[in-house]
Amino acid sequence: MRRTKIIATLGPAVSSEEKIDSLIKEGVDVFRLNAAHGTVEEHVELKNRARKVSEETREIGIMLDIKGPEIRVSEAKIRFAKDGDLITLGPGGDIEINREEAYKVIKEGSIVLLHDGDIAIKIKEKKGTLAIGKVISGGIIAPRMGVNIPGVHIPIEYIQKRDVKFMERIKDADFIAASFVRSAKDIIALRKEMERIGTEAKIIAKIENEEGVRNIDEILEVSDGIMVARGDLGTEIPVENLPAIQKELVKKAMMHGKPSIIATQILESMIRNPHPTRAEVSDIANAILDGADSLMLSGETAIGKYPVNAVRVLARVAEKSEEMVTNRHLEELQGTISECVSNAAVLLAKEVNADAILVLTRSGKTARLISRHRVSMPILAATYSKNTLREMSMYWGVDGFEVPKFKFADDAINSAIKMAEELKKVKKGDLLVIAGGEPSGIPGTTNFVWVQIVGELLARGKGYGKYKISGKACTHGKCDILIVKELDRKIEGYKGIIVKSKIYDPGVLEKISSSGTVIIAGTGNVELEGKEITLDPKRGLIWR
Ligand code: PGA
Ligand code: MN
Repeated sequence: MRRTKIIATLGPAVSSEEKIDSLIKEGVDVFRLNAAHGTVEEHVELKNRARKVSEETREIGIMLDIKGPEIRVSEAKIRFAKDGDLITLGPGGDIEINREEAYKVIKEGSIVLLHDGDIAIKIKEKKGTLAIGKVISGGIIAPRMGVNIPGVHIPIEYIQKRDVKFMERIKDADFIAASFVRSAKDIIALRKEMERIGTEAKIIAKIENEEGVRNIDEILEVSDGIMVARGDLGTEIPVENLPAIQKELVKKAMMHGKPSIIATQILESMIRNPHPTRAEVSDIANAILDGADSLMLSGETAIGKYPVNAVRVLARVAEKSEEMVTNRHLEELQGTISECVSNAAVLLAKEVNADAILVLTRSGKTARLISRHRVSMPILAATYSKNTLREMSMYWGVDGFEVPKFKFADDAINSAIKMAEELKKVKKGDLLVIAGGEPSGIPGTTNFVWVQIVGELLARGKGYGKYKISGKACTHGKCDILIVKELDRKIEGYKGIIVKSKIYDPGVLEKISSSGTVIIAGTGNVELEGKEITLDPKRGLIWR
């Protein structure tokens, strides 16, 4: 099962219910609504459609990506500039920008970039608010093109009217992706605004300029996750610095126990072609090796020609690449009780070779803290909060499911195991390491680790064979597991054999089991006739 999460941007190419349904079936975990394009009405509609399809298929998260303090061309008197041209920037000039604050920080020597750096202008002279610049990379110029002024702080408030409108209309988003975050202050301002609006979404800080990179520690402190927004980041900083920054940001997020997303140009060529480039495939694998929780598709799904293919390719490449990442060595991590208990659960799970880690979580925090260790066994996360369930769709390797609310941990554990069994996430005889909190259902109280085997233990003895088997037991006739008093000859046609006698020759049993038959010997007289049971040869146990 794939463990890296997939985020796909909704847009014109995938706006129908059928397309959304296909994307979910191919493996999308979170849909992004990109507020930079389209109207708020269009996005409300897309969100409703995604929720509706999700109800019939699988729980997915919704991420509303707000524009933040973005600057762009508001007016352009010229539509083309060639290398070497002199042009004016500012009120009444050749190019005007939507934010006056930007003019103040443009100085002699500043570089102004349009449209992801396609156009580059070097400022030569400043006359009041008007700047005169020389075009060092020319091309077509048009209103609405994005403007970047690398390495410069533009004193604009983080909260923008348009974003507020989007957040008010899409209050039930699970995540707000905050574009162009510059510092912790921006996140705090956003949180305050979200509180006023009444939305409890988690905040993903999009790191897309030099300031965001510089302030990553304080940003991680106050946000719920980060996105390495390579599109704008690669314009704002020298593009060759991008790989190292990606690795650094992802690692820092992991140390904070917060999820990270790698975004932009993941499968760029698939916007037009049905197959990925080899470089794209390698980039996906490397992002996963760096430790990213999820990868995001933008134009590939929103406006691409092969949106469903793109998700399929990403899912396939991710699943294969994950074989290289399991078991990070984060044992040295310390911190709060929740963190220490989570670390202990991971160590214990490795030590006892657990089949899965089961987390009982109200807020999703324990799941998040366990996820960062990149354990090889499944991380099953039971929660009674639907919001938490959706939020966990962003966490690497976490397989969330819903359970009823309980007051006592005992009841919560039993109910979660039963549910996991029904959903076929665990089976009889599976060894689980369970982490949770007592009293149950209160966020932030992870305080126990517990080892439990799924099912009711019926008998124990000495096991022979490699793998667990399950089936019906009988003393005569047709069934899967034969019950005998003694075993002194070869018996064929059964998956397993139970030997009741405590006296047996281990050499004989070993020989018989070497052909694939599982044997549990020395169980004594227990009533197993007609029962559906599981034999666990490694531990010598019989389960129902
Ligand atoms: P965007 O952000 O797609 O909203 O611009 C991602 C990026 O800049 O990489
Ligand atoms: Mn961006």
